[in-house]
Amino acid sequence: MDFLEEGEYVKRRESMVNDQILSRGIKEARLIDAMRTIPRHLFVPAGYRRYAYSDHPLPIGEGQTISQPYMVALMTNLLQLKGTEKVLEVGTGSGYQAAILSRLAAEVHTVEILPEVAAKARQTLDSLGFQHITIHVGDGSMGWAEEAPYDAILVTAAAKETPEAYFDQLKQTGRMVIPLGGQGTQTIEYWTFENNRWDSESILTVSFVPLRGADGWSEEEWPT
Ligand code: SAH
Repeated sequence: MDFLEEGEYVKRRESMVNDQILSRGIKEARLIDAMRTIPRHLFVPAGYRRYAYSDHPLPIGEGQTISQPYMVALMTNLLQLKGTEKVLEVGTGSGYQAAILSRLAAEVHTVEILPEVAAKARQTLDSLGFQHITIHVGDGSMGWAEEAPYDAILVTAAAKETPEAYFDQLKQTGRMVIPLGGQGTQTIEYWTFENNRWDSESILTVSFVPLRGADGWSEEEWPT
């Protein structure tokens, strides 16, 4: 495998934070610190390590992807975590986003529908000693009722519309970030409870893999 020296990864990670995150206006100190220290290259398959700090998503196997670093930063930043929260992530993927969240919140629950993907993420997170992260294998399009309510919900796969279950499982003081739309491009929606109702704001056009499951896209609607 074409591994780089450890120091080279550190340098690339530092440049990633400066050129892709800080320069685009995300300055949340604890988030920046997490991105500076979490070894993103260990969350991608060995053959892709040298690209781990590039400005785009990467394949992680099973047709799934690890999100672009800026997307992880932007979506996390919207949650405005203070450190005491219980957070639900839908779409564990590589486990990188969960790792970042675990540095900013008290407790992270992350749901992955593909057992092999979940197993790999668990292995990565355990080997790096991450705590306060529980990976659940199952359909996160219905949220994860057993652990509700949550202070924040972060969805990292594109949904048809925001599943009803998410509103039921989110505290009214909470925030939710979710990409909405079909194959091609989607929009990141940011939900908060204002004036006695849930209200959403469109943040950015993005391109994610589909949210599957009971309240997600079928293979027919969005073939892989
Ligand atoms: N957050 C990830 C990237 C996620 S890619 C990271 O940091 O690497 C989206 C993931 O969502 C994929 O692994 C996919 O298998 C998963 N997924 C799709 N539909 C799902 C569902 N209904 N419930 C849980 N996970 C789902």
